[in-house]
Amino acid sequence: MKIEHKVLPYIVAIAVIGLATGMRIWPLGALGLRIPWVTFYPAVMAAALYGGFSTGIVGTALAVLVVLFWSPTDLPFIDDPGDWLGIAVFSVNGTLISMMSGAMHRARTQATKAKELAEAANSAKSVFLANMSHELRTPLNAILGFTNLLRKSPEASFEQVKKLNIIANSGENLLSLINNVLDISKIEAGHMMIEDAEVNLDHLMHEIESFMSIRVAEEGLCFRVAMSPDLPSDITVDVGKLRQVLTNLIANAIKYTETGEVSLGVSVVETESSGSARLRFEVKDSGIGIPSGDQAAIFSPFEQIGNQPATEAGSGLGLAICKEFVELMGGVIGVESEPGRGSLFYFELPANIPARSIITQPELPGERVIGLAEGQPRYRLLITEDKLENRLLLRELLEPLGFELREAVNGQEAVDQFKQWHPHLIWMDIRMPIIDGLEATRIIKESETGAETKIVALTAHALEEERLEILAGGCDEFIRKPYRDTEIYGALTKQLGLRFLFEEKNKSRGNCGKFSLDENHLKNIPHGLIDDLLAAAERLDEESCLKVIRVICDHNPDLGAGMRCMVEKMQFKELLAALDNSTHKVSK
Ligand code: ADP
Repeated sequence: MKIEHKVLPYIVAIAVIGLATGMRIWPLGALGLRIPWVTFYPAVMAAALYGGFSTGIVGTALAVLVVLFWSPTDLPFIDDPGDWLGIAVFSVNGTLISMMSGAMHRARTQATKAKELAEAANSAKSVFLANMSHELRTPLNAILGFTNLLRKSPEASFEQVKKLNIIANSGENLLSLINNVLDISKIEAGHMMIEDAEVNLDHLMHEIESFMSIRVAEEGLCFRVAMSPDLPSDITVDVGKLRQVLTNLIANAIKYTETGEVSLGVSVVETESSGSARLRFEVKDSGIGIPSGDQAAIFSPFEQIGNQPATEAGSGLGLAICKEFVELMGGVIGVESEPGRGSLFYFELPANIPARSIITQPELPGERVIGLAEGQPRYRLLITEDKLENRLLLRELLEPLGFELREAVNGQEAVDQFKQWHPHLIWMDIRMPIIDGLEATRIIKESETGAETKIVALTAHALEEERLEILAGGCDEFIRKPYRDTEIYGALTKQLGLRFLFEEKNKSRGNCGKFSLDENHLKNIPHGLIDDLLAAAERLDEESCLKVIRVICDHNPDLGAGMRCMVEKMQFKELLAALDNSTHKVSK
């Protein structure tokens, strides 16, 4: 193959010189013209361009030899000194043309090599990022999972919960950084895809509101959500990307606002037809604002502007990702802002309106699962996971609910356990020794009873193509690590039709019997505890409030019970007013 490649240019050189010779004989020869180089120049040029320096030189030499030794017509080509000069000039020019073409060939080879190297480096970067993300997510799953378990444990003291919250927040920040780096590299590699799904707009906005309102309250800001009345109830969009853009813009609004409010608005710009509409989303804040000269740059990766407080760390990737996502979804994003007067980030998106809604309600309410509803079989669940800490985490989540559990530490053990024990559902890690989760899933699903066992992939693989590959490999569901406990319970509900019992929580607004807080109640309660309760209530942090109240119970059980009732009924406003009032009276 290589030899052919090397010989071919010389064959071409001989062919083009042959052709040129033929042309010299006819029609030039027939016309009685003695201009040998008219045909040889283009021939040498073509040979050199095709094959580079050596082919050009061979072409030049052949042409000279033909002129010197072959004269099929009656007209000799070498007749006078001018012809010798012609040969000399032709030889020099042929050599120069060959050298130039050689240099061009070398430059082209170098450019191809550089391109190949860059492509190899780029794909190595993608593989590295995917691996790094996998390796970071695996321990993060244990860190966040156990932190959340401890936060919810009744034994944890208020002080401990405060510290656990710090660990959880730092873990979440690290996770979002990993996700951002992965997203931006996927965008750069052109691998980002759109995954449209139907969503109820009202649910989505409320989900975002309840997710973000705690953070807004923690910063002492107000949060408003305004939805115009003419909005369609269901739309078809890439929900994941829409949610990410909105939470990112709201998180920025909170980050860059000291006082005032943050608001989220959704409206219809135009209804294009009964099946589609153009929606406008707006996130407004009363924060530091952005100078007009910086407003375009902040949408580029790694761009941050100089006016932000030094405490506001960030990667500068968030808005670049938002822009890419919005544009991928067929929309436009922009900002209107004035330094010191706040910012308005907006984006408009085309959205399809499904003819008939097939959207079901969210599977699980956000309350704490405490057990299984009665009258259900005792389900057998197999945990397949090579990392001890992640096996332990799943066990901690599932064992108290009364499942029968077994563990496998690799794909082969999972297959063996499946054959002996016939679990109802297998939690399947993917990257494992001996045989991996994909291979184990294939073997199980291809077996006679395989279809009866549900397989849920629990994996730190984060890329969309990996998710598709895992689902195509036979897994019934895919959950990305780090996961939330609600995702685990949600998968059980979806795959096995399980019904859960939730912690009794009467969230309906109402009063707490005859209980009302007054200054006498607080007399014997340490000031530190009251301050902690005030801080927790201001953050609407129900769990932290309950922790403090548990300590208050030791001092005054009636007061503790009354306060607990107020928190459980979500009467934070009333509790805050009462505490504030009482502390003022006490301090007088
Ligand atoms: P970062 O991680 O730094 O927040 P982003 O891409 O989300 O990265 O934002 C880029 C820059 O745009 C920020 O560093 C900040 O300077 C500016 N910015 C973004 N949102 C706001 C906002 N709501 N108010 C003021 N400045 C903002």
